[in-house]
Amino acid sequence: MMPNRRVFLLSTAAAGAALTSLARAQARVDEKDPLAQSLGYVLDASKADAQKFKNFAAGQHCGNCAQYQGKPGDAWGPCPVYGGKLVSDQGWCSAWSKKA
Ligand code: SF4
Repeated sequence: MMPNRRVFLLSTAAAGAALTSLARAQARVDEKDPLAQSLGYVLDASKADAQKFKNFAAGQHCGNCAQYQGKPGDAWGPCPVYGGKLVSDQGWCSAWSKKA
């Protein structure tokens, strides 16, 4: 294979992978996703199941969780617990941990 063609193919593959991860990253976590259900993810932290998830405390929400990758003021931000899918700034799940 000619070097230029090889570089072209490699860069095309890299661009494709970047687009795929961008598309995945922009999807929102559905409360009904199996992982979301098992971790008790809710779009609105006030609806968290405090009976089932004893670690929940009022005031916790995605926007002040260590995992949250959205910028302050963003309504949605990526969460690595869900493979980079978007979670609501006002959401919550039992993987919440205090932002340092
Ligand atoms: Fe929200 Fe944190 Fe749970 Fe991610 S880990 S969904 S940011 S509470």
